[in-house]
Amino acid sequence: MDLIEENIAHNISEIKNDIKNHSIYPDKVKLIAVTKYVGLDTMKEVLKTGTNVFGENRAQLIKDKHDSFIADGINNIEWHFIGNLQKNKVKYIADFITMIHSVNKLSLAQEIDKRAAQNNRTIDVLLEINVAGEESKEGYQYDELLKDIPQLLELKNINIIGLMTMAPNSSDETLVRDVFIKLRAIKEDFNKKYFHGKLTELSMGMTNDYKIALEEGATIIRVGRKIYN
Ligand SMILES: *Cc1c(COP(=O)(O)O)cnc(C)c1O
Repeated sequence: MDLIEENIAHNISEIKNDIKNHSIYPDKVKLIAVTKYVGLDTMKEVLKTGTNVFGENRAQLIKDKHDSFIADGINNIEWHFIGNLQKNKVKYIADFITMIHSVNKLSLAQEIDKRAAQNNRTIDVLLEINVAGEESKEGYQYDELLKDIPQLLELKNINIIGLMTMAPNSSDETLVRDVFIKLRAIKEDFNKKYFHGKLTELSMGMTNDYKIALEEGATIIRVGRKIYN
């Protein structure tokens, strides 16, 4: 193994150990390798460790990367879209994306639904909630989301299977933990009131805070920088 490969393997095994040690249900947790920082060669090194779930935040780039792997005969990758998604870019990813984590508006959900139908499929999505209420963060405001739920539930070609959030970039662990606790509470409440238990996923936790997210019930963690250190 060369040095980069060795580091990646080491870092990923560390993250997997953290999942075992910090999660309240380690067997349920999926690690998304966020690959927005790296090119195809590094992504192939990640694949060699057995991690085939990639997260990206640019529609055109994830499509290009997807197409390159397919052209190379590699077709066992799960592709997750984790960033702010513009409506007019949904068409680039609708035929192959495994999950879209960042549904933050009714009009975006409607566009994903439409494009999924055109491709004869349903697309798994998460509702991104701005729990921390920071100006800079993407995601639904809670009140806005409540208002949209009836219409979201009518969309037949999207499968709403959970919630996503980003914690504030803060060294105050209590503040970060509180955001994750709140997202989990919203999931439980929504499951009772609107979704009949269909919300199973909590996508929360990145390099700086994934251990806390695991302790508070994350089922999906999205880790980038730590993998390539
Ligand atoms: C970049 C990104 C991540 C990964 O962040 P790291 O700090 O590199 O682990 C996770 N989620 C989203 C939405 C991102 O944009």
